[in-house]
Amino acid sequence: MSVRILEKDTITRQSADGFKPLIIGQPQTIFESRAARLRQLAKESFMADYLLLVGQITQVQANLTAAYQDKVQLQPQISEQMPLSVQHFEPENIWLDILNDLIEQLAPLVSDDIKTTLEQLNQQANDALVNYGKALRQGNFELVPAEQAIFIWAALNTFFSLLVANSRFEWQQEGNENLLHCPLCHSAPVASMVNDSGHRYLHCSLCEAQWNSIRAQCTQCGDSRQIKLASLEENDAQVRAETCDECQSYLKLMFLEKDHQLDAVADDLASLVLDVKLSETALLRSGFNPFLLPVLQ
Ligand SMILES: [Zn+2]
Ligand SMILES: [Zn+2]
Repeated sequence: MSVRILEKDTITRQSADGFKPLIIGQPQTIFESRAARLRQLAKESFMADYLLLVGQITQVQANLTAAYQDKVQLQPQISEQMPLSVQHFEPENIWLDILNDLIEQLAPLVSDDIKTTLEQLNQQANDALVNYGKALRQGNFELVPAEQAIFIWAALNTFFSLLVANSRFEWQQEGNENLLHCPLCHSAPVASMVNDSGHRYLHCSLCEAQWNSIRAQCTQCGDSRQIKLASLEENDAQVRAETCDECQSYLKLMFLEKDHQLDAVADDLASLVLDVKLSETALLRSGFNPFLLPVLQ
């Protein structure tokens, strides 16, 4: 699996029906739509306060993408294999400036206990923050205080989404390797989404890229014999879990044709009850949503 970085002005390869193996959206639009979706979902959720907090964080991410739009650019000499993975890429310290601004803009909006967390985060030395950022990208979540992790991740998420949007990557899947990891930054997906033309894309939790993955095939082990769909209510629910009995894992699957406002991060959080139900089985969640870190601890 290799990634090509195109020269500016190169026309991206695209098949006649408009199918693209890799979709990279505009960060500001992604974060604004997500913030709106979180506010909407909060109206009918038992975890309304938390969804509203995540909505505030996401709205600040949207504001920061505008401020940092031209400041985050890809450096040359980058690996073709998972170019932005933790093994191959160390983000510039500008992500710490994004974190500072995030803290500053959020502080007047949040409750006293969240304000205390933001103050503690503000007092961390840069070296500690860089180590926390690396630990989160490596999946070593236990090394980072959960209540601080969501803000550190939000700053990294803002940085990587701009980096990817400001670069020109092209990717073509080869074989069944690394189905579950983003071809650009090697992070786990939050969930997968089926678009109007019936193609399924996995949505990256870190850089917001979406990569194609064929349907009815386990994204973790590649098996297609023991795939089932689970949902809480009716069979045609807009958020379901694709379960695999072969490797005992599941990843959420969302159907955009049922609601175009579905958002991987927001709707994954709001469907936490489905995870609770599946936690009663032997199945383990393969998707990663940073905003579930404090909820699951
Ligand atoms: Zn990614
Ligand atoms: Zn599997």
